[in-house]
Amino acid sequence: MPLDLSLNLATVRMQWKLPQAVEAAARHGFVGVAPWREMVEETGIAESARIFKANGVRVTGYCRGGLFGAGGRKNLGAAIDDNKRMIDEAAAIAAEGIVIIAGGLAPGSRDLSDTRAMFVEGLAAVLPHARACGIPLALEPMHPMYAADRGCVTTLREMLDIADLLGNDGLGIAIDTYHVWWDPELAVQIARAGKRIIAHHICDWLVPTRHMLTDRGMMGDGVIDFPAIRRMVEAAGYHGVQEVEIFSDYWWGRPGDEVLSTAAERFKSVCQ
Ligand code: ZN
Repeated sequence: MPLDLSLNLATVRMQWKLPQAVEAAARHGFVGVAPWREMVEETGIAESARIFKANGVRVTGYCRGGLFGAGGRKNLGAAIDDNKRMIDEAAAIAAEGIVIIAGGLAPGSRDLSDTRAMFVEGLAAVLPHARACGIPLALEPMHPMYAADRGCVTTLREMLDIADLLGNDGLGIAIDTYHVWWDPELAVQIARAGKRIIAHHICDWLVPTRHMLTDRGMMGDGVIDFPAIRRMVEAAGYHGVQEVEIFSDYWWGRPGDEVLSTAAERFKSVCQ
């Protein structure tokens, strides 16, 4: 039975390379996968596209672009060019969108507001190319603990303001439970996002969290109310696939098939 679930391939990146991970995802009933750029580069773009097709899986997202200010103003042009290349790659692998994060401060910088400004400028610069290629950009606000090094845009409200500023055309919103579950405005901002929601990522917030990046939880092992967030997302108009995305030293240490069977089981028992 196919699951309305996609596998972010980072979830099993220590166990498998792209070909094995995609084959395993299909075998466990996942309808899609979300590959990372370095995995696609390692396998080759044409070969990756062939593998997705041969296994009958959708490519629900391509990870990840944005990060326009992370190299500072002097590298903004290069970051824009790199994002345009990524849009071409996404088209070549028939990805349904690109996950875009805001990026952190450039080395040595303390200017968070200019980093945010560069994110908006970079997005504006790549949007025409994304539209021309038919690749929507899924803007993902990140948990505030990543503001310095990964995602200087930390709330749905702020990300939606940016999408509004840029006219929304070609832009969507990625709701990642790990990043937004704590937000007191969550219900209001998900409703505001409405049809702009084009991705719904799931993983749990563990208590305690022992590592900022690599201690994300399997659904059901932490404190996130997945059915409540899914109800908000569906009420807003998104009924699409959910994508399990877990960076975890624990799960990277388990056999890949155990990770996928656990994720599929938890999706059924915890997330709906
Ligand atoms: Zn995500």
